[in-house]
Amino acid sequence: MDFSFSAEDEEFRMMMRDFFENEYPSDIVEKIGRGHSPSKEDYQRSERALAAKGWLAVNWPKSDGGTGWTANQKYIFDEELERAGALNVVPMGLLYVGPVIYTFGTDDQKKRWLPGILDSTTFWAQGYSEPGSGSDLASLQCAAIREGDEYVVNGTKIWTSLGQHADWIFCLLRTDNSGKKQEGITFLCIDMATPGITVNPIITIDGKHSLNSVTFEDVRVPVENRIGEEGKGWTYANYLLGHERTSYAHVAGKRKQLEDIRATAMRTESDGARLLDDPAFAAKLATLETRLDALELTVLRTLASVAEGGAPGEESSILKIIATELAQDITELGMEAHGAYAQAYFPDSAAPAWTDNTPVPAGAAPAVAQYLGARAQSIYGGSNEIQKNIISKRILKLP
Ligand SMILES: Cc1cc2nc3c(=O)[nH]c(=O)nc-3n(C[C@H](O)[C@H](O)[C@H](O)COP(=O)(O)OP(=O)(O)OC[C@H]3O[C@@H](n4cnc5c(N)ncnc54)[C@H](O)[C@@H]3O)c2cc1C
Repeated sequence: MDFSFSAEDEEFRMMMRDFFENEYPSDIVEKIGRGHSPSKEDYQRSERALAAKGWLAVNWPKSDGGTGWTANQKYIFDEELERAGALNVVPMGLLYVGPVIYTFGTDDQKKRWLPGILDSTTFWAQGYSEPGSGSDLASLQCAAIREGDEYVVNGTKIWTSLGQHADWIFCLLRTDNSGKKQEGITFLCIDMATPGITVNPIITIDGKHSLNSVTFEDVRVPVENRIGEEGKGWTYANYLLGHERTSYAHVAGKRKQLEDIRATAMRTESDGARLLDDPAFAAKLATLETRLDALELTVLRTLASVAEGGAPGEESSILKIIATELAQDITELGMEAHGAYAQAYFPDSAAPAWTDNTPVPAGAAPAVAQYLGARAQSIYGGSNEIQKNIISKRILKLP
């Protein structure tokens, strides 16, 4: 397999780098760099800057408004975005429901919902998990009962990322309890302005508000908002989860974090010597750098196999595990590099402007935010234990 990039790819890289350095909103890069959470407006401004170039729907086919880029170009785009410290796109619209709509939706549904995703005017949330249904998602019970031309929805969704910003939510709902639990699940798109919907914040360990629970009380949803057939939602959900799990590598973002840790360890003293000269610390850093090289090669191998006509398939489960475990270990070393300063963390919700005036080294606050935030990576998108089950059953074919 040839992992090298062509001259055209390198030219493409320079075009991306120039955009992120000179045209992308620099105030957003600075804000994220200080460890603050992006606002809804930040997400939308970031996405509109990409949309203005035609670079927002990176993975979509050209016929549906995507870039039509090759796998290598998509990879280079991600690398340059993360290298610049720009915001990743909000996945719920662009990576999750968009592909479901253009694959399984009617022409009317495509006309109705895709433009708002493509110009980042509609903010989507994902309503899958419920208080009693996470890993065992097919056991979900939030119900949609058909009454004429409408479904009446009752129940609770939980862990709804950025649900407080959402204009629309796509949900898996129980329309039939009589057969196998995977059957009788229906995929509905729901306008968040519909009467009967309440969004309740959940504050996470990092003190941030990105999660919510969403309750539905007699919420009336037109049947025309259903994607595909009633009772076939599980099929569409599985298609979507495949898309979700291939998006976790973030190699360039991790490379940047490791460079920041190395720079911090060069300036930081530990017992009168540079932290970077501490053999135990240096060994940990080198191990993480090597693991990142291995992750990058795994991603490039997947790209090469896609370019040669293969499909990533279940390999996305392997990538998810190694990428998210590495993310957690990198952020742990980031905390170690900042030592006592890592204790001085005030989350957004407690003191929104603290990093601007607080006398701790730049980087200490983002390091803590990244460490706490990375804990969730092995849970969402299907927990890592569930990914191991998938690997043992579908790749290793164990009984
Ligand atoms: C930050 C964050 C954002 C999220 N965003 C969204 C969102 O936008 N929309 C949405 O719908 N959901 C979202 N989720 C929910 C996420 O998909 C679930 O948390 C996840 O599927 C795990 O479900 P659970 O939390 O109910 O844990 P459980 O399923 O109760 O699992 C608890 C523990 O048991 C283990 N376990 C469970 N079953 C097995 C098994 N068969 N074999 C081995 N181990 C097992 C799990 O690995 C885990 O360690 C988000 C979660 C987080 C943390």
